[in-house]
Amino acid sequence: MPRTEPDVVVVGAGFAGLYQLYRLRELGLTTRVFETADGVGGTWYWNRYPGARCDVESLSYSYSFSPELEQEWTWSEKYPTQPEILAYLEHVADRFDLRRDITFGTRVESCVWDERTRRWTVTTGSETVTAQFVIMATGCLSVAKAPEVPGAASFAGPIHHTSHWPHEGADVSGSRLGVIGTGSSGIQSIPILAEQASDTTVFQRTPNFSMPAGNRPLEASEISAMKRDYRAWREQQRSSGFGVPVPEPTKSALEATEQERNAVYQAAWDQGMLTAVMSAYTDTLTDAAANDTAAEFVRGKIREIVDDPATAETLSPRSFPIGTKRPCLDTGYYATFNRDDVHLVDLRETPLVEITEKGVRTTAGEYEFDALVFATGFDAMTGALDRIDIRGRDGQRLRDKWSEGPRTYLGLAVAGFPNLFTITGPSSPSVLTNMVVSIELHVEWVTDMIAHLRAQGLRAAEPTPDAEDEWVGHVEEVGNMTLYPEADSWYMGANVPGKPRVFMAYIGGLGVYRQRCDEVAANGYEGFELAS
Ligand code: FAD
Ligand code: NAP
Repeated sequence: MPRTEPDVVVVGAGFAGLYQLYRLRELGLTTRVFETADGVGGTWYWNRYPGARCDVESLSYSYSFSPELEQEWTWSEKYPTQPEILAYLEHVADRFDLRRDITFGTRVESCVWDERTRRWTVTTGSETVTAQFVIMATGCLSVAKAPEVPGAASFAGPIHHTSHWPHEGADVSGSRLGVIGTGSSGIQSIPILAEQASDTTVFQRTPNFSMPAGNRPLEASEISAMKRDYRAWREQQRSSGFGVPVPEPTKSALEATEQERNAVYQAAWDQGMLTAVMSAYTDTLTDAAANDTAAEFVRGKIREIVDDPATAETLSPRSFPIGTKRPCLDTGYYATFNRDDVHLVDLRETPLVEITEKGVRTTAGEYEFDALVFATGFDAMTGALDRIDIRGRDGQRLRDKWSEGPRTYLGLAVAGFPNLFTITGPSSPSVLTNMVVSIELHVEWVTDMIAHLRAQGLRAAEPTPDAEDEWVGHVEEVGNMTLYPEADSWYMGANVPGKPRVFMAYIGGLGVYRQRCDEVAANGYEGFELAS
């Protein structure tokens, strides 16, 4: 029988929840994991749209905690597909016998702190359990959002959100297809969908910067070289700024001549790595003029690839600095707009009005479709936490506390919410990095803290309001030194109407952040109040 009084409840069974369970077992703690989905994988369980793949290289986007796992698993491509990553996570779940502590198909609805027993009461649709600790491994990008227009229920054909793609696949061959959204999910799927559909119309509100992925099968020699050097590589990942080792830039883009810059950007473009263009110079993310040199390089590429100059201009981002909305890697995205059966609608000129029975109405008129795809993204960073009724000391609700933006200490814990931890929580480097590296850092840190508490006979820990205020201020200060706050991005909460406009990630660098977390632990969990 599953326990009703485990030591720990973990919510979510993606990369974070699986590893957290593994670590807690090592510590000898009893753990229940609850997962809404019917299987493991998180992001890679849900996002099954055509073309879904990672844009951090497979050899880096994988767990580092088990050298044996590293040796026995062999990635097939530079950028792994969704099915391959899902197969990897299923393998991890089986290899470490994790499934027996996971309750699938079960959503956690509320978590309420009981000050008397110093335990959380966790309620799902089917049971109530209590636990000393709750660890939210609920994901930064796990709550899909639809376009904010009325009428979806009236559409006669199927509507597929990229994040809820049918497991059996969606056959759009021969269909007239409308796609709303041109973020990473749209940019990955549109070239493939356009090949299948008889006619495709892309509704674009904001064009995005994308670069060619240069995806390819991995050579046996590079796999064996990595398997030989994995330990050194992992060390570099852990201390790097973004969880992907790249040479540190030393020069301002504005110190280079245009010719030098273009050579550097061309080399970065050819490399097919997200970080390559963004990390070419020291000031790409901090100086508007420097940033624009990179942005203009990419706009020049769009003009080269896209035959029709007006379409190329519509596809060219001009409303935000490059990198301040997450840039994309693609396979044939811009060239797709050279097809006669692909059309681009600029929603800035003719905004969406409604979804109709036959299709989509903009201010310019009605477009008729057989099927629709919403590639419209997520209520990111706080969405999954906001949807759980989390009540801390004195009945305070987390979503009330965060009504003007999330407040955390290190993105890991929240004042007033004892023994609650958030893996890749708001105000940590999270989505600005290779997430697997950030997840491992958080899981290991939280596990060490729980071990410390138990070794010291302590029952509860929570950040002090002062420590939280200091961290929130620091995250804001560092964010304001960059161009990120200028963009209407999901990093800023700007994609969800009514969401507070706050930069929700820490851009100080993963290596620097790790040092800070290590120091906090080494100083007896400085900034936390520990209670027996
Ligand atoms: P998730 O994988 O999101 O898992 C969270 C789980 O929690 C979900 O399964 C969800 O069902 C469950 N859950 C949430 N709330 C509840 C609840 N109340 N009760 C029960 N269960 C709940 N990151 C990168 O670093 N590189 C990439 O290239 C990259 N590509 C991405 C591509 C896509 C399409 C998307 C959407 C994201 C991508 N990411 C990428 C980010 C990705 O989310 C992370 O890399 C990583 O998979 C997150 O793992 P996680 O376990 O933290 O969260
Ligand atoms: P996204 O980046 O938020 O893109 C959503 C798109 O939908 C945007 O173009 C947005 O326009 C548009 N949109 C949203 N609401 C709309 C509305 N009401 N009307 C018109 N257009 C609307 O979401 P995503 O593409 O799913 O990607 C989210 C994140 O997941 C990425 O940034 C990335 O971190 C991760 N991801 C990674 C990969 C990968 O390659 N590895 C693939 C997919 C996702 P605006 O820009 O104007 O808001």
